[in-house]
Amino acid sequence: MDCIFCKIASNEISSKKVYEDDQIVAFNDLDPQAPVHVLIIPKKHIQSADQIADGDTNIIGKIFMVASKIAKELGLENGYRIVNNCGEDGGQTVPHLHFHLMGGRKMNWPAG
Ligand code: AMP
Ligand code: ZN
Repeated sequence: MDCIFCKIASNEISSKKVYEDDQIVAFNDLDPQAPVHVLIIPKKHIQSADQIADGDTNIIGKIFMVASKIAKELGLENGYRIVNNCGEDGGQTVPHLHFHLMGGRKMNWPAG
């Protein structure tokens, strides 16, 4: 499948990984919007948050636990933001489910 994040998960495309297990990989965003900006993805190709199926619910919970672990490791003790952009109006540009873990600065709300 011609999916950039599947290729990152399988190491066909290089990335700066900060976490990996059998189901999940996390790597630095190429175009960071905060001092810490990591993308956390399931290795399984799921197109978006709108396509999460019954069998995927464990992995979504696990992604949030992994986010907390990465945040601790990267020193985000003052807090952080987890973002999912879903579909065109949500601003999703890569059609493989991913969660942005961002921190290291004070975030604004509401997001643009
Ligand atoms: P979204 O707009 O929510 O779909 O987020 C896609 C994110 O993927 C953007 O923040 C991009 O900077 C990032 N991105 C695209 N290609 C790569 C890549 N090869 N390695 C790391 N991050 C990437
Ligand atoms: Zn994919």
